[in-house]
Amino acid sequence: MRVAAIVVAAGRGERLGQNRPKAYIELAGRSLLARAVDALAGSRHVDAILPVLPAGLSVPEDAVSVKLLPAVVGGDERKDSVAAGLAALSSDVEWVAVHDAARPLVRPEAIDRVIEAAMKHEAALLALPIPDTLKRVEGGRVTGTAAREEYYAAQTPQVFRASLLRKAVAESRDRAGTDCAQLVEAIGVDVHVVDGDRENLKITYPEDLRLAAFFLTDRETERNEESA
Ligand code: C5P
Repeated sequence: MRVAAIVVAAGRGERLGQNRPKAYIELAGRSLLARAVDALAGSRHVDAILPVLPAGLSVPEDAVSVKLLPAVVGGDERKDSVAAGLAALSSDVEWVAVHDAARPLVRPEAIDRVIEAAMKHEAALLALPIPDTLKRVEGGRVTGTAAREEYYAAQTPQVFRASLLRKAVAESRDRAGTDCAQLVEAIGVDVHVVDGDRENLKITYPEDLRLAAFFLTDRETERNEESA
């Protein structure tokens, strides 16, 4: 097997204020996890998809793909969930794409783009320039302003040569890591940036679900216009 995708879905999603884990929440009638699985299955490079779930839960019924591998249980932090996924992948996997189940609207073309960049540069992520001015704030008071043009917002998938990601995760014990790229950067590897899409938002707050529903309607209209 050449390319495996790990979909991390083991977070509690407390900021969304619903009574079930985020990946199981429905967006226009389908779970976030099912939508993420569909997009990954639509990539021409992804051979297999491994879901990482909260303990005691199984894959939502609407997440169906011939590429799906049996799910594994995640850990306390995102990087523990990634480690659990990596441990379950066979040793012949050459490239690993790690994707947040909380990003259901990623397009298969964007997944292909970032995988191809990783195959060329060893490590790549989707990221976007930041439109807002960034303030450093302490105790409710602004203590500085960052040079906005130096910053990008990281998205997923993030794709790495499997051996590199395994090493980065193994060496990450004392490091915080809200994404995988951070762990790979920490072992001295350059991570290549590929343009992401604004639609590939991370569902975090209730308003994000409304925005995602709008993007889906928009896609539907686009499809109808194309087929008319
Ligand atoms: O918490 P956050 O929104 O940054 O989570 C990003 C993704 O990582 C989500 O899809 C979430 O389910 C996953 N995650 C995980 N295990 C954790 C924490 C987060 O799989 N312990």
